[in-house]
Amino acid sequence: LLEIDHVTKRYGALEVISDLSLGVAEHEVVCLIGPSGCGKSTLLRCVNRLEEISSGQIRIHGDQITGPGVDLDRVRRDIGIVFQGYNLFPHMTVLENTVLAPTKVLGMSRREAEEKAMVFLNRIGLAHKAKDYPDRLSGGQQQRVAIVRALMMDPMLLLLDEITSALDPELVSEVLDIVRDLAARGMTMILATHEMGFAREVANRICFLQAGKVYEQGPPADIFGNPQGERTQAFLKSLK
Ligand code: ATP
Ligand code: MG
Repeated sequence: LLEIDHVTKRYGALEVISDLSLGVAEHEVVCLIGPSGCGKSTLLRCVNRLEEISSGQIRIHGDQITGPGVDLDRVRRDIGIVFQGYNLFPHMTVLENTVLAPTKVLGMSRREAEEKAMVFLNRIGLAHKAKDYPDRLSGGQQQRVAIVRALMMDPMLLLLDEITSALDPELVSEVLDIVRDLAARGMTMILATHEMGFAREVANRICFLQAGKVYEQGPPADIFGNPQGERTQAFLKSLK
């Protein structure tokens, strides 16, 4: 579904992503792990074109999404992204937050969008909060709404960047439950996470990034149970 092909990203002289290649198959859940600053967020931001890459190509279903002449609206419709800080619009209710993009971008009728939003909100147990403003919700609830907002566009790929790291520990599991549910429904996802237990459980594949490169990758059992590379071993040890 997604091919990241020899991608390099520089900020001035600083090379943050170095000739990185990575493919993601349909229905696959890939977790990016690695030390702070290794380029996880940057890579996700490049994939949905929030950042311009310096060289290389990114393709989705074989179509280039990098380079000139690409319809950015289309890319961002196909690829959803959710960040750590949930970023709901504070002056809009939960329902308004979720129907905004599909009505504005897809031209969906307000009624249809609201019905769809209510299906998702029901699924995550937040239908009763639809008319509330974000500040009346817990952090975990806000993050779940942010995920619903991304799902409203029926993305073919969902990027999740540290979606639990701003949350109190007791709120983490309710957000992870949703990701688990999405994985079970076959959503293709790339997650950047520091939650190794969760990465191990939900991912089909773990990619350990080091200095802007995929240093080691494989099934969770291999990466966590028997890491081959020195850096991978050192990183995992540092977390214990
Ligand atoms: P963390 O685990 O802390 O979230 P990360 O792996 O997501 O780290 P990135 O946020 O991708 O790391 O950052 C990679 C490197 O790129 C860092 O050295 C960072 O300082 C640098 N960087 C990120 N954004 C910019 C920017 N807009 N301008 C300059 N440098 C940047
Ligand atoms: Mg990051």
